[in-house]
Amino acid sequence: MKTPHYGVVLETKNLAGSLEFRDNPPQLIQKREDGQIKYYESPVVQLERNIELFSAWLSERNIDLPLYGAIVLAYPKQHVDIPPANTKILFPNLVPPFIKSLPREGMGLDTSSFNWLSAELIRCHQTYIPKPVCESYQIPVSAIKPGVRCVSCGNIGMNKIPRSWHCPVCKVTNHLAHEQTLNEWFLVVKRTITNRECREFLGVDIHTAKRILMGMDLITSGTFRDRSYRMDFPQKR
Ligand SMILES: [Zn+2]
Repeated sequence: MKTPHYGVVLETKNLAGSLEFRDNPPQLIQKREDGQIKYYESPVVQLERNIELFSAWLSERNIDLPLYGAIVLAYPKQHVDIPPANTKILFPNLVPPFIKSLPREGMGLDTSSFNWLSAELIRCHQTYIPKPVCESYQIPVSAIKPGVRCVSCGNIGMNKIPRSWHCPVCKVTNHLAHEQTLNEWFLVVKRTITNRECREFLGVDIHTAKRILMGMDLITSGTFRDRSYRMDFPQKR
């Protein structure tokens, strides 16, 4: 949605259970259904920081535009016990009416600045790829369920058949199913994989593992015995 009158920053959260937004000190407290309580940095602070950063980004480009923000709870099952005092909280279906309700003061940006800014935003966009969660939270590989995940039904444990993969649950075959599973390895476990790890994770033999790893666009390092394959996720634009 584009408007020349203002910018909107949305901070999306998907935390289950009931949520309590504390303002002093700013903190988010999550009470899960199993009784567990977790504390997070307040999304209000994150939102304010992102609005400040966006505002600085606009000033660098000599653009003066009012900015608004809101916190979006991605799933309607989330329950808010205590909302933050001064920040709007929205469920996804309330985002369009919220955006439409914002005041349109003055003339807004002229057409050429507006078009330039739209293109500049897209040009400067960078995909954020976080560090693998296993590394961030010291989760052992053994805690991750191995197996090729079916791209159709999500079942983990597709069987290798000649030149393809077969899902015993939904009967679908897909010859590239291993690629998505390996991408998940690189995103979740670590950025590198060895032949042995690939064998254990996908449940294939040494030759199939080699063929699969060589067939993906990976960076190899090391010699024959300790060769590892690396996925460098580009910051795509
Ligand atoms: Zn399936």
